[in-house]
Amino acid sequence: MTTLTTEYDAVIAEFDPIIGLETHIELGTNSKMFCACSAQFGGDPNTHVCPVCLGMPGSMPVVNRVAIESTIRMGLALNCSISPWCRFARKNYFYPDMPKNYQISQYDEPLCTDGFLDVTVATQDGPQVFRVEIERVHMEEDTGKLLHAGGAGRIHGATHSLVDYNRAGIPLIEVVTKPILNTGELAPEVAKAYVAELRDLMRALGVSDVRMEEGSLRCDVNVSLSRPGEEWGTRTETKNVNSLRSVERSVRTEMLRQANQLRAGERIIQETRHFNEETGDTTSGRSKEQAEDYRYFPEPDLVPIAPSQTWIQELRGTLPEVPSVRRARLRSEWGITEFDMQSLVNAGALELITASIDAGVQPTAARKWWTGELMRVANEQGCELEDLSVTPLDIAEIEGLISQGDLTDKMARSVFEGLLAGEGSVSEVVSSRGLVVVNDDASLIAAINTALSDSPDVAEKIKGGKIAAAGAIVGSVMKATQGQADAAKVRALLFELLGVKE
Ligand code: ADP
Ligand code: MG
Ligand code: ZN
Repeated sequence: MTTLTTEYDAVIAEFDPIIGLETHIELGTNSKMFCACSAQFGGDPNTHVCPVCLGMPGSMPVVNRVAIESTIRMGLALNCSISPWCRFARKNYFYPDMPKNYQISQYDEPLCTDGFLDVTVATQDGPQVFRVEIERVHMEEDTGKLLHAGGAGRIHGATHSLVDYNRAGIPLIEVVTKPILNTGELAPEVAKAYVAELRDLMRALGVSDVRMEEGSLRCDVNVSLSRPGEEWGTRTETKNVNSLRSVERSVRTEMLRQANQLRAGERIIQETRHFNEETGDTTSGRSKEQAEDYRYFPEPDLVPIAPSQTWIQELRGTLPEVPSVRRARLRSEWGITEFDMQSLVNAGALELITASIDAGVQPTAARKWWTGELMRVANEQGCELEDLSVTPLDIAEIEGLISQGDLTDKMARSVFEGLLAGEGSVSEVVSSRGLVVVNDDASLIAAINTALSDSPDVAEKIKGGKIAAAGAIVGSVMKATQGQADAAKVRALLFELLGVKE
């Protein structure tokens, strides 16, 4: 858990934060929301397009059934009511990221409403559960990507802009929370834990692979402050925050910034803000003081969605073990405390550990590597564990070598170092770093004999019963083999050679 600065403590003493999260999740369907184009990430610009997603006159959209099923399953998993009848709406705006000049979305008739998701945050007093209420889960289509050239990536000052419509029309689900109250100093952690829990739930449902770095999960983070007893404050909305760490940081940053402003007697302007990953600051975006008029109206080219009770029940039957239940099961299988489990979850280590176990690693070893060595490096580099260039399969390969006696723990650390430094695969690092366990008795015995003849006095001491003196000999053998011998084995051989019982 992050240590609280005194400045932050002072903000908490004076203000109550309210947070609200709008999360966009790209579904992992094969085709787009309203046409048969590929919904795959990437591809050469404008190769996953057709008359429908290019908004050609006369083209007609058709709803993707799998996208509706995924949304209903998400709604059910989030404890929502599923609307028996709802429609899509046109959201009209003029910006070239949508060639139709409108986006098909849901407005006042979302498919799923009024749910909740329980999230757990580790605190000094043990785990604390917050129930995050869900306002709505609705469907829309993603927009295209614009690239502004010659203006530091910004539209202002750009000489021209390029458009790529491959992403336009990919099914996008928006999950909107109700205002989350009473989180106090834990507001940043609750925001992060909520997004992590939502991500894990989506992965468990198999509706999205949720790769935050590819933008398949993006968050708008709303924050406001008010003094106890006062009305709720004006919120700002930090847009498109795309990592768990940034969600947490952006809440904290906004709390500190708004507190300064309020103390100076200034008012908070309702606006969107941008999060700067480098500095951790937010900067002003577009004002939301005047609500934009999107001239919403029901999409006339699509039929209403009216899922039958039988269909909903069928989909309910496909819900997986929810992450919280799964965590409880793993916790008892691994024999760890709730606090430890929560730390694993918060560190983003749970999926990596289970993937390592699935690849054949013992649970204890999997936990040891991800929460020890690798966590330290991730913290040092300020990134998430999953961004490190070490995979669960690498851990399995390294553990395999350790159990065959081909690597020592110490050498395994060197392999990790090599992997993290981009020196290639496990086997490449092992061979380029010359990591071989000196394991054959003959060379070990030779090294022991050399060490003994270098220090005949120590040999005498051991024979005389001073077992502790063995450490010196083992030490010089380890040194002679550049740490590539198995210390326990050297010790055993040494006693055998001297005819001494340990
Ligand atoms: P918009 O379209 O303006 O983004 P939404 O209704 O889609 O509005 O989302 C607003 C988000 O802000 C919701 O998650 C809501 O819970 C949250 N919210 C509303 N009021 C406040 C407030 N005073 N402080 C913090 N968050 C708020
Ligand atoms: Mg919004
Ligand atoms: Zn298309």
